[in-house]
Amino acid sequence: MNTSKSRKLYEKAQKFMPGGVNSPVRACYSVGKSPLFIDRTSGDKIYDVDGNEYIDYVCSWGPNILGHNRPEVIEAVIRSCEKGLTFGTCHENEIILAEIIQKHMPSMELLRFVNSGTEAVMSAVRVARGYTHRDKIIKFEGCYHGHSDGLLVKSGSGLLTNSIPDSAGVPKGYTDNTLLAKYNDESSVKKLFDKYSGDIACVIVEPCAANMGVVPPKAGFLKFLREITNKNNALLIFDEVITGFRLSIGGAQKLYGVTPDLTALGKIVGGGMPLAVYGGKRDIMQCLAPLGFVYQAGTLSGNPIAVSAGLATLKAIESEPDLYKKLDKKAENIENAMKCAGLKVNRAGSLITAFFPIRR
Ligand SMILES: *Cc1c(COP(=O)(O)O)cnc(C)c1O
Repeated sequence: MNTSKSRKLYEKAQKFMPGGVNSPVRACYSVGKSPLFIDRTSGDKIYDVDGNEYIDYVCSWGPNILGHNRPEVIEAVIRSCEKGLTFGTCHENEIILAEIIQKHMPSMELLRFVNSGTEAVMSAVRVARGYTHRDKIIKFEGCYHGHSDGLLVKSGSGLLTNSIPDSAGVPKGYTDNTLLAKYNDESSVKKLFDKYSGDIACVIVEPCAANMGVVPPKAGFLKFLREITNKNNALLIFDEVITGFRLSIGGAQKLYGVTPDLTALGKIVGGGMPLAVYGGKRDIMQCLAPLGFVYQAGTLSGNPIAVSAGLATLKAIESEPDLYKKLDKKAENIENAMKCAGLKVNRAGSLITAFFPIRR
């Protein structure tokens, strides 16, 4: 395969951007390849600048549940562009999109639009702290919640309370209030609540872990989190940035039947544009300015183009009642093919991880 144009562009890109990329995984270091530069997409295909055609299993890391360039989404974006790119104030589609989201995730009684998953989760955690007047949060090793300072933590050692920042540049003080537990391990959560009960604002979790490879929740795990947070007057936050509109039209909370206090959405909800959402119980979300004393704002929040892409995407999802059944079936076929090839596979709905044996 000829990828010489991509390689040439990658050399040039490195002169201007760190590692030649605007998000680290794109540099493909861990797979020992240089990145492909993309020219265009169509449906399930992606084409690089050398004219090679690929089946796209990455789907832009989540947003493209409908494939690339779905005509009604593109049409909605074009129509919206014709009316202006940003207003800096209110518009009707914000309400229509909020209503559709709430229809499928009734736990989001009040919600706010932001620009990225990172921002949605960071803001949800701030609201949880403002509402409970507590500082500590519990997150799980291996769960990714965006790149904000307090959440870039996993345990470097086995010590549960030994919060080690994943990234240089994060002062230790910023992660002192981030407690680490083990995913699917109830006793690790209990221990933290025993020790810090009155100080814990929230537990934040990927309801189906998808950033350490796919790790579905063990039966009863999410229900346990719901109960222990209730008992300790702490909030439960589901980071559904990947699982929202992916595992079901109502996300993981519908699939597993556990209702969080706050939810963060991203990826699919923006239909390929920079849009994310956080929301939850009315009395909690009422802590936000202008109603309350938790501040969070954004120049481009609720951007009309991004909202129109999200709206058209969710409407297209709604118009295909069999969508999730079909996705599931396709993913199952891929899973079976991978298993036949001798790989170990974890799967939840259309989320798949294959584990390749390493030969030394
Ligand atoms: C992708 C992701 C984020 C971060 O979203 P960005 O839009 O990349 O900032 C947060 N949480 C989860 C679970 C994600 O998968």
